Amino acid sequence: MIDTHAHIYASEFDNDRDQVVERALAQGISKILLPNIDLDSIEPMLATEAAYPQICRSMMGLHPCYVDGNVEQTLATIHSWFSKHPFIAVGEIGIDLYWDKTYKTEQEHAFVTQLNWAKEMQLPVVIHTRDSIEETLALLEKEQDGSLSGVFHCFGGTVEEAKAINQLGFHLGLGGVSTFKNGGMDKVIPHLDMNYVILETDCPYLAPVPHRGKRNEPAYTELVAQRVADLRELTLAQVDSITTQNAKTLFRL
Ligand SMILES: [Zn+2]
Repeated sequence: MIDTHAHIYASEFDNDRDQVVERALAQGISKILLPNIDLDSIEPMLATEAAYPQICRSMMGLHPCYVDGNVEQTLATIHSWFSKHPFIAVGEIGIDLYWDKTYKTEQEHAFVTQLNWAKEMQLPVVIHTRDSIEETLALLEKEQDGSLSGVFHCFGGTVEEAKAINQLGFHLGLGGVSTFKNGGMDKVIPHLDMNYVILETDCPYLAPVPHRGKRNEPAYTELVAQRVADLRELTLAQVDSITTQNAKTLFRL
């Protein structure tokens, strides 16, 4: 099983990161993919990758919530990292209009810029959207020349949105939200194309039931897999096998 989206480099794990990784391994997690956030997250992310080289793989990108008036300078620094270190994806990138719309134009600029890096470097992208699915899909549609691939991480949308995402060749990252009783995903997951589903935790956030509200961790990926298995009437092993193969293909693991 692969946790395709985990911020285990975050300070929430500073006291017990070894144990967190050990619990993940004990649950059969073979890879933990680390999305970057901003300039400050690069050092702890790379240190975490170096500490668990068989398990952790880093991405590089600028998260939309950290786009501000300095976006050109920040993007230049982020971009320079691609020539210094191998990364498995451009991420996480996207548009977030939930918290703050002040830098909407800059967010869209940063998203398109990073999509174009992904095209040049032939890397998949990991997309974060919040209150912005239409804007994100419109830009992606414009940029999709057949060479872009990636995932809408933490997917919590409708069946129609899932279809639009898949039509653009993009995957859906299912995480803790899939297990929430009021999340509505019980009506969506049965209709998803399993060829486009991958699993994630987005830890330390969005812990699945029964850990909702507490710190999330990669070992809980199995709780998401079990939820998908129950809703699809598949076995846990089948969901594991399908989603792991999808993630391996998408991220070339
Ligand atoms: Zn994230």
